[in-house]
Amino acid sequence: MKKEYAVIGLGRFGGSICKELNREGMEVLAIDLDEDKVNEYKDIASHAVIADSTDEKVLKELGIRNIDHVIVAIGDNIQASILTTLMLKELGIMKITVKAQNDYHEKVLNKIGADQVVHPERDMGKRIAHSIISNNVLDYLELSDDHSVVEVKAGRKLIGRTLVDLDIRALYGCNVVGIKRNRDIDVSPMPTETILDGDILIIIGEDRDLSRFEKNLV
Ligand code: ADP
Repeated sequence: MKKEYAVIGLGRFGGSICKELNREGMEVLAIDLDEDKVNEYKDIASHAVIADSTDEKVLKELGIRNIDHVIVAIGDNIQASILTTLMLKELGIMKITVKAQNDYHEKVLNKIGADQVVHPERDMGKRIAHSIISNNVLDYLELSDDHSVVEVKAGRKLIGRTLVDLDIRALYGCNVVGIKRNRDIDVSPMPTETILDGDILIIIGEDRDLSRFEKNLV
């Protein structure tokens, strides 16, 4: 059976999730307090309703219990976001994803059992900071507080050399887990692989090691 989703809060974040889920052919119930927002999503979501998600009775009437995954994308109203999450949890929703506004909000959401807490502004800020520091860092994905995966464009110091010759694992404690070349991705590059101009390396490691690698080799 097809999974059903609900998005609560149709601001920029919730709205973009709603559009993308719809584009992927998913069933989406879109909920917002604001009539204009709901009208905007009438033709995008499978159902769009004006409702206050902090009202438990309303949530029950909407049949939210039958939804597999609920995304709480309420913006500045942290209290409403927490209360909504708490009620969804009590109603037994299988998966709840919530957008956090700040670290304190994130902590509370984790405490009350949100399955996934996202912090898009902070994460995007970090990713952009990495690409600002080095023009060759194309993307950055945080795995934990101190581990990440980065995508770096092979620069002068890497081109023409092999992985064994660069000895990245021993010298920097990071692992090259993939090489993107043209449209292909080699997810288990051989140590003897020579890095070519235009290659993009996918590297996993501790942040401090990755940063040393970026400073010295990128
Ligand atoms: P963003 O930062 O993603 O643009 P916004 O703060 O602009 O977020 O949007 C959040 C949306 O959440 C608004 O459209 C607002 O009407 C909606 N919202 C806020 N509180 C509730 C609530 N209790 N129930 C339903 N929708 C809500």
